[in-house]
Amino acid sequence: MFAARKRILVTGGGGFLGSHLSRLLLSQGHEVLCVDNFFTGRRRNIHDLMDHENFEMLRHDVTFPLYVEVDAIYNLACPASPIHYQFDPVQTTKTSVVGAINMLGLAKRLRIPILQSSTSEVYGDPTEHPQTEAYWGNVNPIGNRSCYDEGKRCAETLFFDYHRQHKLSIKVARIFNTYGPAMRPDDGRVVSNFICQALVGQDITVYGQGTQTRSFCYVSDLIDGLVRLMNTPPQITGPINIGNPNEFTIRRLAETIIAMTGSKSRIVEKPLPSDDPRQRQPDITLAKELLGWRPAIELEEGLMHTIAYFDTLLSEEGKSIIPDNA
Ligand code: NAD
Ligand code: UDP
Ligand code: UDP
Repeated sequence: MFAARKRILVTGGGGFLGSHLSRLLLSQGHEVLCVDNFFTGRRRNIHDLMDHENFEMLRHDVTFPLYVEVDAIYNLACPASPIHYQFDPVQTTKTSVVGAINMLGLAKRLRIPILQSSTSEVYGDPTEHPQTEAYWGNVNPIGNRSCYDEGKRCAETLFFDYHRQHKLSIKVARIFNTYGPAMRPDDGRVVSNFICQALVGQDITVYGQGTQTRSFCYVSDLIDGLVRLMNTPPQITGPINIGNPNEFTIRRLAETIIAMTGSKSRIVEKPLPSDDPRQRQPDITLAKELLGWRPAIELEEGLMHTIAYFDTLLSEEGKSIIPDNA
């Protein structure tokens, strides 16, 4: 174990996925340097790691250069929830694009592998279903979601150009909707919104008629996929879809969460945000073949863990942590 110990940089390590990834890497005996500006991350997510002898936290914004010595980089820094990435869209594009340039520059100087957390949003509102990695996407370049979608697309371009031009070892993961403990109660994404609303008896806010679909992956499966991808030989670059192919309508998700929590909440319809993708489902053939990976946790089990997490959070921090959806 000691011989294989690496010092690993996790950008966005204080966020939802980054905190789970940091915890797993530490459990495997690695050292973790967590870099985060805490825009959406929370100290609570990494509270238990602060005293770990192999964990180090650095408050830093990846849009500024970073000079550290590490053996590998997971680049996760970027707000992922639509309400958060649309709050300061210029900063979102900078984080994706300038952040990618800085982390690629760091990887180039050190000659180390770097993994990018890309997204199913690169497929936009897809006209092919399910989405394979060969699909180029259907993305609005000037809409409310474009700062994120186009930022992530440009980051992928940079990763492949650093690979071709500078022979850098890159790994690009296209992550589909992922949920689980450590999401913020005010994250704004659908699973956390519905669970929090159900637990406190608020109306469940379905945007549009709830006929749009998503495919939800539990966090432990996702993190396992990222680590497997990082550990592949250099010729494997991705992009590789990582997500759970089981597809649900948003209305069915609401009904499932109401049933599982025994909530008295009603479902109410709110306006559908612009450019909201109508359907999304990963084709994970490549991940199965190249990573030997497939998700193990299905929706009800994952929701059970996530409901338990929010239930505890609410009892510790009170109902006021949930935004009023009226
Ligand atoms: P999150 O918002 O919980 O975490 C993002 C983290 O990045 C936060 O801790 C935030 O403070 C930090 N951050 C943001 N801007 C930064 C900057 N300029 N410098 C340093 N740190 C910065 O979101 P998440 O769900 O954990 O997502 C992590 C990554 O995975 C993101 O890159 C996201 O695009 C990608 N992703 C997530 C999902 C998902 O469903 N969770 C889906 C697709 C892609
Ligand atoms: N960079 C960094 N840390 C490093 C090396 C580079 O943050 O250890 C940043 C630096 O700001 C630079 C960017 O990465 O602008 C891209 O680096 P690269 O070497 O690719 O380009 P150049 O320095 O030639 O512009
Ligand atoms: N959504 C919803 N109610 C909410 C939050 C989201 O109906 O309170 C819908 C949203 O319109 C989208 C889907 O749920 O169709 C997933 O939204 P999320 O923000 O979680 O992720 P993304 O749209 O980025 O896939």
